Amino acid sequence: MTSSGPKAFAGVDIPSDDIITNCMHCGLCLPTCPTFQLTGLEKSSPRGRIQLIKAVAEGKLGLTEGFVEEMNFCLDCQACETACPAGVRYGSLVEAARAQIFIQGAESWTSRRLKRFLLGWVFADQSRLKILAILLRWYQRSGLAWFVQKSGFLNLISRRLAATQGLAPQIRLEFSSETLAEVLPAYGERRFRVGMLTGCIMDVAYSDVNLATVELLRQHGCDVVTPRGQACCGSLTAHNGDMDAARAMAKNLLDAFSGQQVDHIVLNSAGCGAFMKEYGHLFAEDPQRKENAAALSAKCLDLTQFLARHGYRPTTTPKGASHGRALRVTYHDACHLAHTQRVTVEPRTLLAMIPGIEFVELPEASWCCGSAGIYNVVRYDDAHHILERKLNNIMSIKPDVIVTGNPGCMLQIEHGLRQEGLNIRIVHTAAFLHEACQI
Ligand code: SF4
Ligand code: SF4
Repeated sequence: MTSSGPKAFAGVDIPSDDIITNCMHCGLCLPTCPTFQLTGLEKSSPRGRIQLIKAVAEGKLGLTEGFVEEMNFCLDCQACETACPAGVRYGSLVEAARAQIFIQGAESWTSRRLKRFLLGWVFADQSRLKILAILLRWYQRSGLAWFVQKSGFLNLISRRLAATQGLAPQIRLEFSSETLAEVLPAYGERRFRVGMLTGCIMDVAYSDVNLATVELLRQHGCDVVTPRGQACCGSLTAHNGDMDAARAMAKNLLDAFSGQQVDHIVLNSAGCGAFMKEYGHLFAEDPQRKENAAALSAKCLDLTQFLARHGYRPTTTPKGASHGRALRVTYHDACHLAHTQRVTVEPRTLLAMIPGIEFVELPEASWCCGSAGIYNVVRYDDAHHILERKLNNIMSIKPDVIVTGNPGCMLQIEHGLRQEGLNIRIVHTAAFLHEACQI
């Protein structure tokens, strides 16, 4: 995969051999790795996978079925990066390995075609995604979804298809990219001009969260610019190895935001934020674009970073508190916020500022929930085993509300709560922070 020194692979900067060999085999990452904890197998651990990647890089191992399986079994949660004392950039290594697998067609034809069609083509243009969303909304609201579920029809076709139906996001009646004006002024004194990413899934399934984000920003002195022509940032596509398609999506967003003169681009999805903060490395072979991408990345902030840095003014307790007792709130760290962006303190600080809240720390809050992009769909059973640990931790503290900052985590945890019959509200950080700012 590499020989030595800094490399550009598939047009992407990837770690040099030095970084691969930085691994000193200490094993400190092993207890933090969900797939190692599931199997107990070295090959399913960060250390084991690094050895596999190294063997491929040195030409000692081909892109075998076993290699592909281990790269895809990894959640890319990057908990191992947080734990590693040697600074091994494991996430970049596994993503480079997946790009190699994709380019060389080492996966099955069906899987490759499906990824190219869905992640590389549908997600590349928001109008295509909206057509798919409208069809899904019709299926969900016409009663057909209810009928299919009750009849057990999907079980006859495929048990996995039946199980994954519960993971489908509820498509909203209105999409945020159509509801939001291109520029919305601050309420009161203007302090900043910020850019808003409406995203792909966030736009069609969590448009309410996007609207709450914009309102929150306006309440806190921001003119909010939502450039037209946006689509997916490319993170899902890149994590699945299709770097060319991901790069095209990044170019589209760079064009959408170019010339907007914003102080910050505020993000409310952990996966998008993590990817956009690293946009520069997508353009290793295009210096001009690389510079523009790095400039955009430098402006990217998670919503919680922005509010913690520039002030947050909650006024009231969000809904759900029982009479006479504080609202018991906990927080689940999305992997790409905690491990990739290292944002853990800010959300907790903001939550602690809300009146009438009893904040309860979730045991193993930064342990992956199993969502991991499309992992919970394509590897439902593995994801479900990982989710069980999260649910056990949730049950141990019995919160009223779980707050988290990534749509994938919300879908996965909500699915688990529903299956367990647990009446616990799960809400996006932006929506919860906004609820606390109602006049
Ligand atoms: S913690 Fe870092 S150095 Fe130690 S085995 Fe894991 S990747 Fe290698
Ligand atoms: S990214 Fe997550 S699942 Fe993959 S090796 Fe690291 S800790 Fe394990």
